[in-house]
Amino acid sequence: MVADNQHNGCLPERVLKGEAGSASPAVTDAAVEATVFSEDDTRAMMLAIEQARLAREQGEVPVGAVVLDGQGRVIGKGFNRTISAHDPTAHAEIVALRQAAQAMENYRLPEASLFVTLEPCAMCVGAMLHARLARIVYAADDPKTGACHSVLQVPEVRQLNHQTRVQRGLMADECAELLRDFFRARRLAARHARTSDT
Ligand SMILES: [Zn+2]
Repeated sequence: MVADNQHNGCLPERVLKGEAGSASPAVTDAAVEATVFSEDDTRAMMLAIEQARLAREQGEVPVGAVVLDGQGRVIGKGFNRTISAHDPTAHAEIVALRQAAQAMENYRLPEASLFVTLEPCAMCVGAMLHARLARIVYAADDPKTGACHSVLQVPEVRQLNHQTRVQRGLMADECAELLRDFFRARRLAARHARTSDT
């Protein structure tokens, strides 16, 4: 797998905030190219965000994912449901991948792309690799368990037998804000519960 943007951590966010035009004209290498997302990409990420909101409604950490086939049709959707399913593997990506594989009646999805609101963890990157996905796009970085860029750089391990294109930063601000709001509300609720106890 090949992680795009690995040479310039601050670039994708800048591009995605619509400031690409004001980026230094000297920066015209492939990394910049790789951070230009299409309208279809944005639409797919918006579907993933819808899924993340469904997770939030159920009190789950708001992370959502969608899988598209080679023609851009949605073949799988999922949101994080680890708490309600009593399942440590029920991350949004795994839920969406399982649905997609069932839909295609194939455990390999070589033309598919997965869009997810948060940087995938090692488990999810592993699953996506087994599925032979063509492309992974994620929004916000996860400095705690991210395995594409932040903590581990699994896509950069050249010895792995499958190469998948990984792109980061699409609608990163929106997705990070969703997570921040969720944790802020949870902290407030916990504080409120403590004060009402006393
Ligand atoms: Zn995961």
